[in-house]
Amino acid sequence: MTARALLFDLDDTLFAEESFVRSGYAQVAAAASAAGAGESAAALLDRLWYDFRRLGRTGAFDRFAAAHPGCALSVAEMVKLYREHRPTIALDDPARRALAVARANGLALALVTDGAAATQARKVEALGVAPLVDAVVYTWALEAPKPDPRGFLEACARLGVAPAQAVVVGDDPYHDVEAARRAGLAMIRLRAGRAAEIETRDRPALYAEIDTLDALPEALKRLGLTQGGAA
Ligand SMILES: [Mg+2]
Repeated sequence: MTARALLFDLDDTLFAEESFVRSGYAQVAAAASAAGAGESAAALLDRLWYDFRRLGRTGAFDRFAAAHPGCALSVAEMVKLYREHRPTIALDDPARRALAVARANGLALALVTDGAAATQARKVEALGVAPLVDAVVYTWALEAPKPDPRGFLEACARLGVAPAQAVVVGDDPYHDVEAARRAGLAMIRLRAGRAAEIETRDRPALYAEIDTLDALPEALKRLGLTQGGAA
């Protein structure tokens, strides 16, 4: 069988999502420091990052506000700053190489990403990834968050490729892998990011795992997929 398209997830597949969190926290820390939180931006960022490592993102700004009663910044303002900031993030090197190799092999390329479309679009812009692919699909804008497979199918349609000739590349077992399974798409799971240790139980028929995107061409081969351009 010939693979004609790769449909990439974004967060924790093409870049480390934590770098976006840190970038947003830096923005909030700087604003909070200027708003009377009583410590330097660097010290506040350290505190936010420590809290994130211990307890995760949920409720982080509520905890921060409670710990810094002198800060004039409301939690709602922190959330807005975080969501609307221009992130300082970069594509992982293996991601950059994988996109270039796939393009050189004539594959059509799409991004299919979950999350608030405006936030995701800011990530896409900051990563400079749009010129490296042929389509970007924001699943929330379609009201079809993963594991709803419609975002991946929409990507196939925009690329002009049959789903049977498309391969999903993503990290998330409950979102990317499950969407691929529901749509009958081939799947290459990248074991990376926060879900790296989580097993995938219900797998798509064509399924492989890799731990770096540098292994993508070899994984396609393992699945019996030759890479062919649309031409
Ligand atoms: Mg992901």
